[in-house]
Amino acid sequence: MKTLLKNGISFYPPSYEVKPINILIEDTEIIQVSENKIEAAPDMIVYDLNGNLIVPGFMDCHTHLAQSFGRGIYDNLHLTQWLLTMGRHFDLTREQTYAATQLACIEAIKSGTTFVGEMATAGAYDIECIQAIADSGLRADVCLAVGDFQEGDNAPPDMNADQILDLLRDLHKEWHGKNNGRITTRVSPVGLPACTEELMRGSRALANELGVGIHTHCCEGETETANSYDRFNCSEVEALERFGVLGPDCQLVHNIWLTEHDMDLMAEYKCSAITCPSTNTKITDGMPTVPGLYKRGVNIAIGCDGESSSGTYDMLQEVRLVALLAKVSTGDAAMVKAEEAYEMMTKNGRQAVGFDTKVGEIKPGFKADLTVINYPAPHLIDERRLMSNFIYSATGGDVLSVFVDGKPLMLERKLTQIDEEEVLDKITEIMRKADNLLP
Ligand SMILES: [Zn+2]
Repeated sequence: MKTLLKNGISFYPPSYEVKPINILIEDTEIIQVSENKIEAAPDMIVYDLNGNLIVPGFMDCHTHLAQSFGRGIYDNLHLTQWLLTMGRHFDLTREQTYAATQLACIEAIKSGTTFVGEMATAGAYDIECIQAIADSGLRADVCLAVGDFQEGDNAPPDMNADQILDLLRDLHKEWHGKNNGRITTRVSPVGLPACTEELMRGSRALANELGVGIHTHCCEGETETANSYDRFNCSEVEALERFGVLGPDCQLVHNIWLTEHDMDLMAEYKCSAITCPSTNTKITDGMPTVPGLYKRGVNIAIGCDGESSSGTYDMLQEVRLVALLAKVSTGDAAMVKAEEAYEMMTKNGRQAVGFDTKVGEIKPGFKADLTVINYPAPHLIDERRLMSNFIYSATGGDVLSVFVDGKPLMLERKLTQIDEEEVLDKITEIMRKADNLLP
């Protein structure tokens, strides 16, 4: 089956000049991209983009989607207290887990996201979360937040390293390659402050065995990062190097309290950094080290993290903050230019995930994961300055349509897979009764 998206405009790399675009899709894949008209055949499905802007679907490389039910009830807490409060109160039922994840997926799709790197909270209902993502139509690389070491005053772990590695192996068996390859899995020790050396070394061995990468939080809190010196006599990143975790398939999330040597190591091992600035600012983790990593050539992608700490699954809000913080933290207004920020939310995401699946760019051979932006709008006008306007002025509300695998998940802001009104009514009812989550 062929699908034609005609009469749009897009950014053409490497200069990102704005030009007309027509895209022909066969099944799930882009087979032709042209500035000129592509003739429609009678058996094609045709969508007229009416001069709107089309871009690669946004890749949100670190989420905890079920935390949508924690949004707005754990405010005004610093990371350490936030972790404690979440640990004590954020215990979703099966019904709440599915509803919370579904709510997050709707928000993500309506803001132009086509891919999530989901670290689900391991527990009785983690599968509900993954099922909700699979049902949403989003592409996802899923993993579980698992640890085997008691971090500070947090609750003690309920599994040892062997049990955790078995759980991750089962996750892989159950989900990797599911939904026509839309769902993949990853090995995910939650972060060194909550993991033993045994789990970190075991995670590397399992990732190699399964042929998938590693996803872990890194150097998020000042106190938590400093604890590595007491436990391992070195920095967190140095410990990860020693345990064999670092490598091109390793995604390190947050990266706030890095030393210069840590950044050198991340570059040397070709790790990907996932930056989540809404969380880093809202729960006062500290300033992301994007400029230092960027200067060293580290691949940087972006994540909205969990909504309980970030307040958003809107990648356009997140990317804006990435660029602005990089500038103000260095005093260099040219740090992270709009084009570079755009790459961080699209093709750098694919490099971080290391997909065999080609996503994040609009070219033949790539999956048709695409996002359509309303153009022109009062804040998005004149093609010559559109990239800048897109990064600094657009929000998820500007997204009109979203395609994954060439199929629409949203058209002209109307979701195609679900009845949004009905589902939101149902979720609102579940959320209003969720008093078990209140601190
Ligand atoms: Zn996280």
